Amino acid sequence: MRPFAYRQARDAQDAIAIAASDQGAEFIAGGTDMLQLMKDYVRQPSQLVDITGLPWKTIEAGPQGLRLGALARMSDVADHPAVRDGYPVIVEALLASASPQVRNMGTIGGNLLQRTRCLYFRDVATACNKRIPGSGCSAIQGENRLHAVLGGSEHCVATHASDLAVALVALDAVVVIAGRSGARRVPLAEFHRLPGDTPERETVLDPGELIAGVEIPASPAARRSHYRKMRDRASFEFALASAAVALAVENGVIRQARIALGGVATKPWRVPEAEAALTGARPEPARFMAAAERTLSGAKPLAQNGFKVALAKHTLLRALAAVSQGA
Ligand code: SF4
Repeated sequence: MRPFAYRQARDAQDAIAIAASDQGAEFIAGGTDMLQLMKDYVRQPSQLVDITGLPWKTIEAGPQGLRLGALARMSDVADHPAVRDGYPVIVEALLASASPQVRNMGTIGGNLLQRTRCLYFRDVATACNKRIPGSGCSAIQGENRLHAVLGGSEHCVATHASDLAVALVALDAVVVIAGRSGARRVPLAEFHRLPGDTPERETVLDPGELIAGVEIPASPAARRSHYRKMRDRASFEFALASAAVALAVENGVIRQARIALGGVATKPWRVPEAEAALTGARPEPARFMAAAERTLSGAKPLAQNGFKVALAKHTLLRALAAVSQGA
């Protein structure tokens, strides 16, 4: 690990000012991903700005929805009665993430900003456009079993690693961003960028900005929601394919449908067309199959990951079947 300076931010403006005065500064909270990347020389900040003292640990639930502070711990959110009661997809996504030890350290903001698990990104001996722009992508002709079938480009096909982001995208979450000119709000579905020809730019955060919190609007579908994750082993493993779904059903008809996929795309993958196809329909297997086909219709598998298309469809079908039970 390279030497670095360390400072504790007094408040948000202090953190933002430090970052503005030092282009090599990085924010740190739980540090569960950052420290791995520093030890592997993938990230080499000149300065770490510790933001754990900022007042962003709150979990607030009300009739309008849920507000999670960026520094709320994953384990605390998963254990919160209002989240368990009204937003099961969030709890299930959190409990499917990492390990209890990591969830005790990891924060909501940090989870959304975690970097890809592409093995080439984390190996500085290999070419990677995300780590060193213009150096090439080792995965496209290399080991790509774990990579994306949706949203990739000729420059990068790395999957987004967060389970939580998939659940939050399905629930129309909004990211609250703090910066030098105050706060701004961005729908989470627009927060992560497709790689295009700039895979090193993963979010819409400008330099010096940081996530202050996440707002999840109340919705009839949120209570009937579910996260299903398929992976190579049953714990402490990233998704090969995952699905977050939420359905509001009235009188045997779907009034609101939300679908997002993880593990198969370069960002949390929301599919409004598939949701529209379900809205107004009865929650029946044939409808679910049509929605799953539509969700994966743009898939472009690589040499080793064609299996993900069928896996993602079946993961989605099982998630939809689970939330429609008793509807
Ligand atoms: Fe790097 Fe993306 Fe290619 Fe992986 S897929 S090697 S992260 S450019």
